[in-house]
Amino acid sequence: MENYDAIIIGGGPAGYTAGIYLARAARNVLLIEGIPGGQAGTTDIIENYPGFTDGISGAELMEKFKHQAARFGLKIKDGMVDSVRVEGSDKIVKIIDREYVAKALVIATGADANKLGVPGEEEFRGKGVSYCATCDGAFFKGVPIVVVGGGDSAVKEAVYLTQFGSKVYIVHRRDKLRAEKANQEMAFKNEKIEFVWDTIVEEIVGDKLGVTGIKVKNVKTEEEKVIDAEGVFIYVGVTPNTAFLGDIVEKDEQGYIITNENMETNVPGIYAAGDCRGKLLYQVATAVGDAATAAIAAEEYLERLGAGQEV
Ligand code: NAP
Repeated sequence: MENYDAIIIGGGPAGYTAGIYLARAARNVLLIEGIPGGQAGTTDIIENYPGFTDGISGAELMEKFKHQAARFGLKIKDGMVDSVRVEGSDKIVKIIDREYVAKALVIATGADANKLGVPGEEEFRGKGVSYCATCDGAFFKGVPIVVVGGGDSAVKEAVYLTQFGSKVYIVHRRDKLRAEKANQEMAFKNEKIEFVWDTIVEEIVGDKLGVTGIKVKNVKTEEEKVIDAEGVFIYVGVTPNTAFLGDIVEKDEQGYIITNENMETNVPGIYAAGDCRGKLLYQVATAVGDAATAAIAAEEYLERLGAGQEV
């Protein structure tokens, strides 16, 4: 078993930030990255992360985070964690047939937007298909936009997107929204929004330049048509990447890790940061803030443990 002061699971903005803070504090730290850069690394251009006045590609920003962490001596290893177990104050992380042990653990595994799973979705990702209105909405000024879904995210982001699009269609598979009433009302009174009820997406269509529309079917009448649009924002739920933890830390009913404001979970020495924990805003900027807090809380925990104090 390899021994570390701290292990960070996840190679996105939260993971690398926790790595910068803990490695800079001269701790022996291992970061295990699944998909380098996480969701942020697949974002075409990030325009709302401070310091990059002309925006920066998600991949380039994540490379910068990673290099900065490596400069302070962070060890980085590829791998998908299979399980975590706790034995006394040891946290044991298992990847296939190898185990790594640390006193502190920062979980920064993010979340994945659920996919529709229709033809064209993967092909046009980043060329009109997006899962983040805050990140990509501004690319669709003056053109029609489609939002898929009927929950709070779909409805709120559709209202947000009306400041850019010439029109915003909300395509929902039922004739009732799941979103809370106040959010529904905001959408209903917005003249730029048109609801397309009882409708499923069959295909996202486009050309060399990107998306040109979506092919839909009304589930009651079976009528098929194409809605012209250049942006398609998919909000059909999100799944936090926390299943591998089993029930070792407390999660909410959707699988988000529950933390206090210091990013502490219910298990002493285990912290969560970024999109894998339940919170208001899921952005690179908030992931960075979470992770800095988690790292400092972990550092204080390691100091108390090292001094034989109560943790
Ligand atoms: P959500 O509440 O799970 O809604 C997902 C929506 O996508 C539902 O309308 C669902 O339809 C639809 N959907 C799911 N799978 C689909 C598929 N394969 N094809 C077509 N449509 C599909 O997810 P969310 O909107 O991301 O919200 C997640 C959580 O965060 C919720 O608890 C929400 O309340 C909360 N949230 C709250 C706020 C707020 O301002 N209060 C803002 C954002 C998120 P059905 O309705 O038919 O199931």
